[in-house]
Amino acid sequence: MDRDQLAEHLRFAADLGVAGVSRDPAWRKKEDRQKATVQISLSPEAALAGVKAFIGECTRCKLSGLGRTQVVFGMGSPSADLMFVGEAPGAEEDAQGLPFVGKSGQLLTKIIEAIDLKREDVYIANVIKCRPPQNRNPEPDEIETCEPFLFQQIDLIKPKVIVTLGKFAAQCLLRSEEPISRLRGRIFDYRGAKLIPTFHPAYLLRNPSSKREVWEDMKLVKKLLS
Ligand code: URA
Repeated sequence: MDRDQLAEHLRFAADLGVAGVSRDPAWRKKEDRQKATVQISLSPEAALAGVKAFIGECTRCKLSGLGRTQVVFGMGSPSADLMFVGEAPGAEEDAQGLPFVGKSGQLLTKIIEAIDLKREDVYIANVIKCRPPQNRNPEPDEIETCEPFLFQQIDLIKPKVIVTLGKFAAQCLLRSEEPISRLRGRIFDYRGAKLIPTFHPAYLLRNPSSKREVWEDMKLVKKLLS
């Protein structure tokens, strides 16, 4: 890398919001420059923007050719203590490019507000970022391709609590085949956070009596956050 390239590289990092650049001493010795690293620390917001830009108009899995309109990356506070993880975007999410903005999303907003938070205070994402045709279940190759991006989101946001919504997200993150009825009501350690599985808002719309359990889960979430 010559001086001009390095200057451009650093300008690019600064544009992304680099908080600090520490120089590897190896830069000082010409023969070691190839091995040298420049450590940069990005704000979570800038780093998430980098992940989003890296995903781009993704064509890594077959969903890009199966009618999805756009990638639904995620939304909310990059420094949220609480993160919700759903399954995959539905029709409304696919149209707007935002997670949980349809009927389930309206119920999720109420669930968030029930513990005195706002949507902007939390972060909302899905295991896979493109809508499967007819909202079918995500397939293993699609999950394998897409979930590393969710892991990056979790590792950058570093939430204290992750709430998985529905069977699919819980089983996927926990690498479990246990039914949601057995996963719910328990607290799991997951990537530095406490993971609380709860029911999916779409399930609650069909089974309103299960809102009681979700309320119990959310009370636990509030306790863990305080
Ligand atoms: N269901 C999900 O799992 N995710 C969404 O974003 C919307 C509905």
